[in-house]
Amino acid sequence: MSERWDLIVIGGGPAGSTLAGLVKKHAPERRVLIIEKAPGPRHHVGESLLPGIIPVLKELGVYDKIDAAGFPKKLGATFVWGADRTPWDADFTDGSIQELIERHGGIPEKINYAWQVKRSEYDELLLGHAVELGAEAARGETALRPIEEDGRIAGVVTAGADGAEISRRCDFLADCSGQDGFLSRFRKTRVYNPGLRNVAAFAYFRGAKWKYTYTGAPSRLLWKIEKRNLWLKKSNNRASYQLATRRLRSHEVYQGRTRSYNSRGVAVFAGRPQ
Ligand SMILES: Cc1cc2nc3c(=O)[nH]c(=O)nc-3n(C[C@H](O)[C@H](O)[C@H](O)COP(=O)(O)OP(=O)(O)OC[C@H]3O[C@@H](n4cnc5c(N)ncnc54)[C@H](O)[C@@H]3O)c2cc1C
Repeated sequence: MSERWDLIVIGGGPAGSTLAGLVKKHAPERRVLIIEKAPGPRHHVGESLLPGIIPVLKELGVYDKIDAAGFPKKLGATFVWGADRTPWDADFTDGSIQELIERHGGIPEKINYAWQVKRSEYDELLLGHAVELGAEAARGETALRPIEEDGRIAGVVTAGADGAEISRRCDFLADCSGQDGFLSRFRKTRVYNPGLRNVAAFAYFRGAKWKYTYTGAPSRLLWKIEKRNLWLKKSNNRASYQLATRRLRSHEVYQGRTRSYNSRGVAVFAGRPQ
């Protein structure tokens, strides 16, 4: 008889580690396995956290580890967005008391910051924490296809680092594979939002300096949005440059319009590509 888990989680990114960690925290007797195809720390775009994540990290019990990791703290954002080029702030320290009471039925813990993380380190901290809570982790193992029995999913077939197939059985299978959308490939459940068929590109610059000073306080990270789709995020010595644009316009971006984005965007940095 093959081994059996109560829950198998496909993907050791933030979603998978959070789910596995919370299940182990609240039901330590349950057997939980995370299957992560990357054998070790891996880079991923998406490093700018928002204050809403802090209660989740506290519930998970990993807040102190993230806090101690030394990621730069972010107190808000400055935007240049719209026809009027005047910079404006989204300040995490500005909370409308009335809005908080209406939304939460009282005043919740005041959280006025988040971090600009390095995803290879942040994701590793979360995954390690889930393992500390008792989840098992199969690193370097790729989920290939679900095992289906009597109309329900009963496990998953994976490939280990040597390519050999492994059958892993479970009561519940959670798809936390991010954009890979593991289960949607078999159940055809993925529905694209026609308004969000975007393509994205990103790059990092070392030693970048802000050419313009907006209204941000020194400890605040500045973001800048040009038009609606170019994001520049800077923390310490590392600047992240991200472009998301509608798919239909991607050929325009690659065939010339990159220059106009660059002249508006990269021009605010004087750094070298990393
Ligand atoms: C250009 C861009 C900018 C972004 N900026 C931000 C931002 O500033 N802030 C923010 O919060 N978010 C941002 N995001 C979104 C962010 O990247 C995602 O929301 C986040 O990574 C989702 O986490 P996740 O755990 O669901 O998936 P992921 O982080 O993608 O993790 C999924 C994991 O599953 C593993 N996996 C996949 N398939 C398999 C398989 N078959 N078998 C085993 N393992 C598998 C992968 O290796 C991966 O580790 C951005 C996204 C893009 C594209």
